[in-house]
Amino acid sequence: SGGLVAYSESQTDVSNTSVEINAKDCKKRRVVVLGTGWAGISFLKDVDVSAYDVQVISPRNYFAFTPLLPSVTCGTVEARSIVEPVRNIIKKRNGEIKFFEAECIKIDAANKKILCRSTFDNNLVGNEEFSLEYDYLVIAVGAQVNTFNTPGVVENCHFLKEVEDAQKIRRSVIDCFEKAVLPGLSEEEQRINLHFVIVGGGPTGVEFAAELHDYVQEDLVNLYPTVKDLVKITVIQSGDHILNMFDERISSFAEQKFSRDGIEVQTGCRVISVSDKEITMKLKSKEEICSIPHGLVVWSTGVETRPVVKDFMGQIGQGSRRVLATDEWLRVKGCADVYALGDCATINQRKVMEDIAAIFKAADKDNSGALTVKEFQDVVDDILERYPQVEHYLKSKHLSDVTDLLKDPEGNARDEVDIGGFKLALSHVDSQMKNLPATAQQVAAQQGAYLSKCFNHRQQCEDNPEGPRRFKGSGRHQFHPFRYKHLGQFAPLGGEQTAAELPGDWVSIGHSTQWLWYSVYASKQVSWRTRVLVVSDWTRRFIFGRDSSR
Ligand code: FAD
Ligand code: MG
Ligand code: MG
Ligand code: MG
Ligand code: MG
Repeated sequence: SGGLVAYSESQTDVSNTSVEINAKDCKKRRVVVLGTGWAGISFLKDVDVSAYDVQVISPRNYFAFTPLLPSVTCGTVEARSIVEPVRNIIKKRNGEIKFFEAECIKIDAANKKILCRSTFDNNLVGNEEFSLEYDYLVIAVGAQVNTFNTPGVVENCHFLKEVEDAQKIRRSVIDCFEKAVLPGLSEEEQRINLHFVIVGGGPTGVEFAAELHDYVQEDLVNLYPTVKDLVKITVIQSGDHILNMFDERISSFAEQKFSRDGIEVQTGCRVISVSDKEITMKLKSKEEICSIPHGLVVWSTGVETRPVVKDFMGQIGQGSRRVLATDEWLRVKGCADVYALGDCATINQRKVMEDIAAIFKAADKDNSGALTVKEFQDVVDDILERYPQVEHYLKSKHLSDVTDLLKDPEGNARDEVDIGGFKLALSHVDSQMKNLPATAQQVAAQQGAYLSKCFNHRQQCEDNPEGPRRFKGSGRHQFHPFRYKHLGQFAPLGGEQTAAELPGDWVSIGHSTQWLWYSVYASKQVSWRTRVLVVSDWTRRFIFGRDSSR
């Protein structure tokens, strides 16, 4: 069986589980974790190493604090300040976790094995490839940059995904300035060298544009005074607005600020190819194609599934999907004992309507074929927990109580409803299903923490497969599913101004939000070491400006 791993807060009898697990110490089950990003690291921080034999595979032997990567592109913070060695992190777990610097190149789901390739040269290490067996596999490999197969992108664009990418951008920006001031260039050639193009108007592209603008205005114009008026920054966005995943107040504030700053925003444009000199695009409204010369292009249009995950999806019957699907307990659909979290996966939420007959049956305890308000009330908590959309629906309809759903069209309470009436009463709740943000550090980190809890309470879950709640409506889902807590999201816009979308439709924009941003990101650092480094980088920048050496 898939093994029940979900965890319930209503289970209080936790005290003796660790003893039981220790008794079985001799045959610890093997957990293999793929990836040391937000999801993987947050899982590793809490998973019970006395109960599991944990091995971690990642081509990078460090965790990177991605929200500060755009700051690395301009030297506002140093690359070293935002990374924490994996070995530092696992040292804190009594050294019981093993780490291998390698890439997983194949998941063999049928034989519960993975194949890995070390990132080193074959001449330096004996076996370049090795395989590992697992009892449980945790896939947290994130996603890769999506080029949409646009010709020339891989060869001629910078990405902003990894620490190395940010470092390369930093050097290339300076190169553009040094090239522009070489003797013998025409003004036109100087302009081309100093034309910075960002493809993609999402949070990363916009933040980079803002950061670059500040860097140019605060530091570089003083160092390269002869070309200071020739710099241009262009953001190309295929949609109608930049930051369109944010509240529209934030999106329009960003557009206005960029327009004041002289950052050009080209919306409704699709890039069709990139060469070393030019970027060619198509205006969506007209069938017109135009090319503009550039000095540097940063490609930041979103992510897609990694090949190793695609291949795995093919093996387990998810081949036609774009993203690996899990249930709300982060269990991969169609493959027992494999879990997936973070950017590489998406949770497929159940619809109430899919389960409506089972819910009715479970609620109708006396099997009378009719549901009384009392019977309904008994399962309400389970329904709310299992189907978060019900709560969103009630809110949207300004109803205070789920039982209000059972009222007749005139608003009068009904004594009971039959299955037809029940279906009708709940027929619209699924319209309020909310998807989690597709890529978000908070989702990945919360999922990692949740999954480690599930693992740590596995014994107990297996001993009580029915769980404390007996809501059988949806099969074996007795424990509380993953619930995302949105704590808000920032969009730094440059000039010491940041926009923030906070829970409950709150939007805050400006200098004070920038200070909130500083304090939140300082506090979120994974170690005191990186916290001190980041804060001192900020301080250094305030006092001395950014370092512009190559
Ligand atoms: P990742 O953090 O990408 O980690 C994936 C891990 O898997 C890495 O360690 C990688 O090396 C490893 N890996 C890759 N392939 C393999 C393989 N084949 N085998 C083994 N290991 C593998 N989100 C926000 O919410 N707020 C922000 O401000 C924000 N800013 C961002 C800025 C930038 C520049 C970027 C790139 C992202 C930003 N994000 C932000 C998104 C956020 O970083 C991701 O949502 C988050 O990193 C997802 O975590 P993850 O663990 O799923 O993947
Ligand atoms: Mg990860
Ligand atoms: Mg990461
Ligand atoms: Mg996801
Ligand atoms: Mg009944």
